[in-house]
Amino acid sequence: MQHFPIYLDLAGRRVVLAGGEGAALSKLRLLLKTEATITVFAPDPDAQIEAWAADGRLTLVRRTLEPGDALCAALFYAATDDEGEDARVARLARADGALVNMVDNLTGSQFITPAIVDRDPVTVAIGTEGAAPVLARRIKADLEERLSPRLGALARVAQAARGAAMALAPGRARRAFWSDWFERTGPEATDADLPGALDALLERHLSAEATPGRVDIVGAGPGDPEMLTLRARRLLHDADVVIHDALVPQEILELARREADILPMGKTGFGPSVPQAEIDAAIVEQARAGKRVVRLKSGDPGIFGRLEEELTALREAGIDHAVTPGITAASAAAASAGRALTVRGRNREIRFITAHDMKGFAENDWRGLAAPGAVTAVYMGRRAARFVQGRLLMHGAAPDTPVTVVENASRPEERTLTSTLATLAADLDEFDNAGPAVLLIGLAPAANAARTPAPSLKEHA
Ligand code: SAH
Repeated sequence: MQHFPIYLDLAGRRVVLAGGEGAALSKLRLLLKTEATITVFAPDPDAQIEAWAADGRLTLVRRTLEPGDALCAALFYAATDDEGEDARVARLARADGALVNMVDNLTGSQFITPAIVDRDPVTVAIGTEGAAPVLARRIKADLEERLSPRLGALARVAQAARGAAMALAPGRARRAFWSDWFERTGPEATDADLPGALDALLERHLSAEATPGRVDIVGAGPGDPEMLTLRARRLLHDADVVIHDALVPQEILELARREADILPMGKTGFGPSVPQAEIDAAIVEQARAGKRVVRLKSGDPGIFGRLEEELTALREAGIDHAVTPGITAASAAAASAGRALTVRGRNREIRFITAHDMKGFAENDWRGLAAPGAVTAVYMGRRAARFVQGRLLMHGAAPDTPVTVVENASRPEERTLTSTLATLAADLDEFDNAGPAVLLIGLAPAANAARTPAPSLKEHA
């Protein structure tokens, strides 16, 4: 670490900048957020700098820098947009004893300004020792997205209430209070109401009835962690307990806090599975114990996910709850195949069906599904493929109707089988898939659907 990150108190300190155009403007925009006393040396300054000077926000000296001009300055910026002039003023300022920064000149600088995510009083500084400014910008963009724009307001109110919160027992109780404030109660309160909301929250935590449990039923998407919603990610991070079904991959579970309890509980198509009543009971029991529970289900919880049963159990138990939707397997499969699920003039509807139910193979509106142009996504359809094939052909579907089978859609192990209705069962036997698969009947993969997935944030960086 060549550059040591610190936060410098600039209140009332002198900061001097030489320059009056582009580079100077962008530095000044940052510096004006501080309480520094700023002096700018520029023979021909931009109108914006003149305006700041007129407003009394900085002192403007209309000439180039001379020896002694940077005396008593804590920081000096050489920002003249001219290499030679920058070198000259930097030399003078160094002689005057200031710490010097030269814009776009790492070796000439004694300090550098990081990329800043500003949620005053919360600020995040990002530095790469000048090695990768693009990476710094990328991280900044990522954080900008992740940190609520209101974080600063929440932190200011929290600052004022630090003393009052000391009434809570140190450790878990105090931590629970603050995370409740920053992650739930604070973000949900209106700006005008922030202090009141914090008082009320503190009251609640102080009286023993603190933190009633709640349950979020969350869609985990098809498997790629990047296909989680931002809300799913936040809820996972906040959860005390994560109860997940069999199709949720490890990479997603790892987004939960290390201290969270992770309980696998799911229905698998044919293998061993936990009875639904037992799952419902476990969710209710955890919430009653005051836990924040995330019930994590693959894809969208409202599609073949036994969502209603769990909602009914929660409603009957009077437990606070909400549903967070997710990307369903058919959407991910179609995206991988490079195809739309609906196309004008081809199909005005898309059906999501399952080929088996509790009683076995499930009956469907086969005639409708067999119509030309129909598109059907079959979930849990692997073993039922022969049955579906037979029913559709019997009801008049064309034998050459295209079928795309996408296994492990969105995951690294993703595979695609291109088939037709006539050969589906035989092709599937040969394909020998073991992972979850969706059958897209009526869709052929795009000719060049060979996957070039969007670069992930990590790769991009
Ligand atoms: N709620 C889920 C579906 C649960 S039923 C959703 O909206 O996606 C389980 C079935 O979903 C599996 O048998 C399979 O047909 C399908 N499925 C789930 N994840 C999948 C994936 N990554 N790729 C292909 N199919 C998947």
